[in-house]
Amino acid sequence: MTGLPYAEVIGDPIAHSKSPLIHKFWLDKLGIEADYRLFHVKPDELADYISARRDDPDWQGCNVTIPHKLAVMDHVSDPGGVRDTIGAMNTIARDESGELFGTNTDAGGFFAPIADVPLKGQDVIVIGAGGAAQAVLFALSRIDVASVTMVNRNALKASALLARFGLKGQALEHGAALPPARLLVNASALGMKGQDELVIDLGTLPDDAIVYDLVYAPIKTELLKAAKARGLETIDGLSMLIGQAAVAFEIFFGQSPPVEHDEELRKLLLK
Ligand code: NAP
Repeated sequence: MTGLPYAEVIGDPIAHSKSPLIHKFWLDKLGIEADYRLFHVKPDELADYISARRDDPDWQGCNVTIPHKLAVMDHVSDPGGVRDTIGAMNTIARDESGELFGTNTDAGGFFAPIADVPLKGQDVIVIGAGGAAQAVLFALSRIDVASVTMVNRNALKASALLARFGLKGQALEHGAALPPARLLVNASALGMKGQDELVIDLGTLPDDAIVYDLVYAPIKTELLKAAKARGLETIDGLSMLIGQAAVAFEIFFGQSPPVEHDEELRKLLLK
């Protein structure tokens, strides 16, 4: 116990996480006396970790990263039905009665930078069918898009996700010609440092299309560079990273993060 309210991020490995930098930046800007830290939890330590924190009154909750996003669902309640939708939790906190519950802030974080874009009735392309893609599809299923074309090396997995989220659309393999779309999202690992590049022809996108890359290492991906070269609007992965942290911050500390400092935060994250 620290005597000071705190939240943390757990995972294995965990040293690379940017969450402490983001949450501490906001705590500092808002003058909240609390801490946010990294905590290394190996897979066989998860149950003990949860039961220890359950009894710690200073602990406000935690963010959960690889490899615990699925396993943690066995230890906490699921009031939002995350297990049957996004299928993974990335945030644990206490409810008003003190019980631990889990949620997933990735869908909200993904949606934050496009909240003002009128996507209802529009066509969308999503590349990838992993955990991040599920959060994206969850958000898209809530805003009544017309169709989602998914592109994944395993097209069958992508088709199954479309059905699960009740979305109309199609699943294609990489290399297939893309239809026009108002929004194209890269939710795959392609383009990430150490991974293959995403090879894609943006030629079918209309001039008002938005290209949104969830990859944030590097921040200026080849996809975003190609979209910019075509004069398209782009959104980078830091926007979602900050957006998902913002939803968690409110849950942990009860205040909205000060968005007026986002540019300063982005610079810090890019250092
Ligand atoms: P994941 O669950 O492991 O899914 C990775 C996806 O990428 C899968 O669909 C996989 O295809 C595809 N993929 C991986 N390697 C590939 C290759 N060589 N060729 C073709 N497809 C490949 O990972 P995730 O958690 O969804 O993360 C995906 C990306 O989103 C990562 O870059 C991650 O950093 C980013 N992300 C960003 C944020 C943010 O806040 N900005 C949040 C979450 C994730 P298969 O389905 O065929 O295996």
